[in-house]
Amino acid sequence: MTTGARLRIDLARFRRNVAAVRERMAPADVLVVVKDDAYGHGVEPIVRAAVDAGATWFGAIDPASALRAKAVAGDAARVFSWLTATDAEVAEMLAAGLELGVGDAGYLERVAETARGGEPAPVHLKIDTGLHRNGIRPEAWPSVCARAAELEAAGDIRVVGLWSHIAEASDDEDDASRAVFDGAVAQARAVGLAPAVRHLAASAAAWHRPEFRYDLVRIGAFCYGVRSADGPELEGLEAVATLTAPVTAVGGGTATVDIGSADGVFSTWAGRVDVAAPGGRRALESVGPFDSRVAAWPGAAIGDEVAIFGARADGAPTSTDQAEAIDTVGEEPLLRLSSRIRREYV
Ligand SMILES: *Cc1c(COP(=O)(O)O)cnc(C)c1O
Repeated sequence: MTTGARLRIDLARFRRNVAAVRERMAPADVLVVVKDDAYGHGVEPIVRAAVDAGATWFGAIDPASALRAKAVAGDAARVFSWLTATDAEVAEMLAAGLELGVGDAGYLERVAETARGGEPAPVHLKIDTGLHRNGIRPEAWPSVCARAAELEAAGDIRVVGLWSHIAEASDDEDDASRAVFDGAVAQARAVGLAPAVRHLAASAAAWHRPEFRYDLVRIGAFCYGVRSADGPELEGLEAVATLTAPVTAVGGGTATVDIGSADGVFSTWAGRVDVAAPGGRRALESVGPFDSRVAAWPGAAIGDEVAIFGARADGAPTSTDQAEAIDTVGEEPLLRLSSRIRREYV
């Protein structure tokens, strides 16, 4: 089944966002996060455009996305992948020149073993600074660092980075995480590790708090122009993707548009958000599986286009505006979109 809905991805806007983020973060470097198929924008075109905009780092949690990014970026960028992967995936990632996030002692051994006899595996050791998702606990950190130094001396690995991930929920919590991180860096250096790349922050902390930038920041949402829920507008950044649907029927004061919950539109948006119609903002009245109803505007006609979310420059509410209406985050509406929706690159 096809739908007339489109996700229009403006690569010029994306390049401008990447350049603006890089400028603001300098002298820290920017790793463009491309997990979840580049937040629904498509890994390959996004990596190509980011390289054009000067990006020199990419990252994705899963090996498949990271490998796709490396295949496009080649020697133009370093690529980092942080999922604890199988031995076969580790071998494939090392052969492709990827750098690996390592957040537990057992995985460190497996990576070292896989690399043994070849080039040392480039490793970024992850300290758990409080999120408790993945990462070496502070109690275990000194001994894991000592072990990493042994494996480095043996030529199996090279510790090129130290990193962590923070909640970005409150400044106090983030500050506490940063203190743990600084301590971990000092302990790693004390056992002889000399990683050149320290990285801690994602979009929000990196943008607003320079002391979180260290050598590298990992930016997903803001590169795509997706601001934080309940966060301020982002000066110089614009949403990259605009979701539109054509009008298929008009009558009884409503316009029917060719997009529904099966395409990834939240049914809970009905009655809670406006969309951008040719006659201005109009209420989204109901969401069915395959089409939705919007309050009509004067002269509404079949073939008119309605933007469900998109760029402010186009007069549309952003994905974060729409997400806030149902208490979720701005990337969520993008990640839900079905593959039935055609992606168009401009
Ligand atoms: C998703 C992710 C990021 C990027 O987060 P944004 O808020 O989208 O910038 C950075 N680091 C890690 C480990 C992530 O999983």
